[in-house]
Order: sequence, then structure tokens, then C-alpha cells
Amino acid sequence: MKESILHYVWQHKLFTAHNLCTTDGEEVEVIDVGKYNTDAGPDFFNAKIRIGNTLWAGNVEIHSRSTDWKKHNHHSDKAYDSVILHIVDMADGDVFRIDGARIPQLKLEFPKHIENNYEQLINEQKWIPCADKIAQVPSIFIQSWKTALLTERLEQKMSSIENLLDENNQHWEEAFYITLARNFGFGTNSQAFESLAKSLPISILGKHKDNLFQLEALLFGQSGLLNIELADDYSIKLKQEYTFLSAKFELRNINGEQWKLLRLRPDNFPHVRIAQFAALIHSSSKLFSKMVENPNIKYLKSIFTCKPSDYWQNHYLFAHVSAEKNKNLGIQSIYGILINTVVPFLFCYAHKKGVQALKDNALQLLEQIPSENNAILTGWKQLGLTSESAYDSQALLQLKKHYCDEKNCLRCRIGHKVLTN
Ligand code: SF4
Repeated sequence: MKESILHYVWQHKLFTAHNLCTTDGEEVEVIDVGKYNTDAGPDFFNAKIRIGNTLWAGNVEIHSRSTDWKKHNHHSDKAYDSVILHIVDMADGDVFRIDGARIPQLKLEFPKHIENNYEQLINEQKWIPCADKIAQVPSIFIQSWKTALLTERLEQKMSSIENLLDENNQHWEEAFYITLARNFGFGTNSQAFESLAKSLPISILGKHKDNLFQLEALLFGQSGLLNIELADDYSIKLKQEYTFLSAKFELRNINGEQWKLLRLRPDNFPHVRIAQFAALIHSSSKLFSKMVENPNIKYLKSIFTCKPSDYWQNHYLFAHVSAEKNKNLGIQSIYGILINTVVPFLFCYAHKKGVQALKDNALQLLEQIPSENNAILTGWKQLGLTSESAYDSQALLQLKKHYCDEKNCLRCRIGHKVLTN
């Protein structure tokens, strides 16, 4: 039997508690199973267990078989000196601490249906292992699990924001600007956009923020996309301006070949995205601080509704005239930026500054953004789990990626219901 199910049964006290005895026949009373340890060392810390007439406080180690104790070298490892009980599925030998003292062992018994349910889940090949059973789990229960999943997702995103803050002297505006730029790459060009932002500090853009043409010159020049033969007045002037500005600020452009156009719709071409990004910088200042001051959906949407320069209204590339089309950032793109950049940043900021109201506000923003729409969310819908907002969709994406795909059902609250029913 897998150790993970034994851990699960012990942690959730699902074992058969009456007539609990060690392999020596001494009575066992579990007062506290201890705290589950996911790091190195014994599996549970600070358990309280009465064995015979003695009350013990210490650690618990769990293995499939007794002989695993020696196989894992715990008999010669000081970290296991305070183990008070060795829990096993199969007791096939004695186990000892480093000083030679024998450790009591308990063969864990638990209801057969839990083991059967677990085996079924682990061996299931459907889209998610509990596909046939999830409909039986009450929706109110799933809703509270979504909140935990969402918080977990935002906490995971916090670590990359913290790294960026460390790299940028805890400068929130700079870190936000780099992440926002990355988001403007919309997957295909995210890496290139991030490199562009890292090569061009926001302080330099700030010096020219009132002049959209100069912002375009800086951004297009740094992107390397001007390193081609340019064939119209606008792009030639743009390059001239960049030549002047790059010498002034001692800038070196990134490699323009990393931008991808293949299989992209023209609206997603990096040229259009850079023009939109320039327009955003032009129409705003201290963007992140303003979001912290006024984190409401209407205001946030208005910030990102910015219009690129006239040239880009009838161009997707340099020197290729196309039909006139509004190139403002579309609403779906704005929602994507709010979900993937704005909300995680607000959440992280609120967490670090200890402002619970702002943290709650970040989560509430997701409730006001429509659900994302992709194959995973369609899969959930077919199982009866619909997404009313980005709050739901983000939680369900987290569940699929970090639990279902990894068969992490023992850590999943839906899994708990399925296993114990
Ligand atoms: S992780 Fe949870 S939701 Fe996913 S298959 Fe397992 S029990 Fe079901």
C-alpha cells in the first residue's frame, strides 16, 4: 500500500480508533496525531499518544513496511531520534533508534471503502479521476474549496512578484511595469516583451511620457524591430529618434528576432502590442500606485482603454498600409491583464503591507470579471462545474493543473468527500 494513503488516514484520523494496539499488544490512544511535515524529517511532529500507561509527546513516522525504516537509514539518523511511534501497513520487523532503543509500531487499520475509493481514483483514466463522482459532492462545499484554491493560486504568483521586487530594489512600479509588459506579450511574445521592459527602465520612459512619438521610438527601438530596412516616413523618423535617445541613455536594443508573428492574428502582432503599450505609458503615470489607491473595476478598465497613435490605426507592421481599424486594447485583453497582472500585484502588495481590505478587494475584482473561456473550463462545465466569473475560472484552472493532473486527490477537498463516502 502506498505511504501517501497511510499519511492521509492518519492526518484525518480516519483509522479505526477502538482496540488500537501496538504490534506488542500494548493499548494505544491517539490524543493528537501531530502536525504534518512536508519537509525533511519525520512525517508528523508533536504528536501526543498514550502507549500502555505512558503518555508520549514526539514525532511519528509512517512507512508501508517496517523494513523501510532501515532502508531509509532512519536507524542511524538523529533526526528520527524523537520518533515515538512507527506506523505501518505491514509489520515485518522491529525498528530501533540510533541508541538501540526499540520503537513501538502500530499497524494502521482503516475502513476498506477508503482504500477502494483511493485505488479507483488513482487508476482512473478519465479527464479527471473523480469524473464519475464529482456530481455527488455538494456545490456549497465546492464553492468554499474554490476560495482556498484561488488564494493558493495568488500566493504562488506572489513568489515570482517577490523575485522581481528583489531584482528591482523593492521598486513596485518597476516590477509592475515589467510584469505588465510580459502580459502584453500574451503568451507568444511574453518573453520578448519582458526582455524589452528589462532593457528599458521605466524611469527613462517616464522622462518622455508626455511625447507619444518618443515613447514609441524608445520601445520600438529597444525591441530591435527597427533593425530592418525601413520604407516609410514614420518608421524612418522613429529610427532617427531612437538613435538620438539610445545614445543619450546609453541603451542597447534586444534581439529583434525573438519576436514571433507566425500563427498570430494581426491584432496580436508585437508591433500593435508595443504601440498599445506606448499609449498606456503615455496616458498614465505611477500606474501601480493609482491602482492601489483606487482598485475598482470601472477605473481599472478605463486605465487600459488607451488609443495607439494614428499610424497604427491603419498599420499592423511598418510600411504596410491596411484598412483603418480601432487598435485600442480589446476588452478580453484588458480582462486578461487584470486577472494575470493587476489582481496578483494588488494581492501581493496587500499581503506584504498587511492590508486585509485590499486583499479582499483583489479577490472581489475577480468576481466582477467574466469567466475565462478555454478547453479546461469547458471540461469542468461538462462535469457540471460552471464558471460565473474569473473568480471561478481561476480556481478551477488551479484545481485541474495542481491537483487533478497530478492525481493529488489526497490533498483535494473534493477528494476527501469522494474518498470517505
Ligand atoms: S484532485 Fe480533486 S477534483 Fe481532481 S480528480 Fe482528484 S478528487 Fe477530483
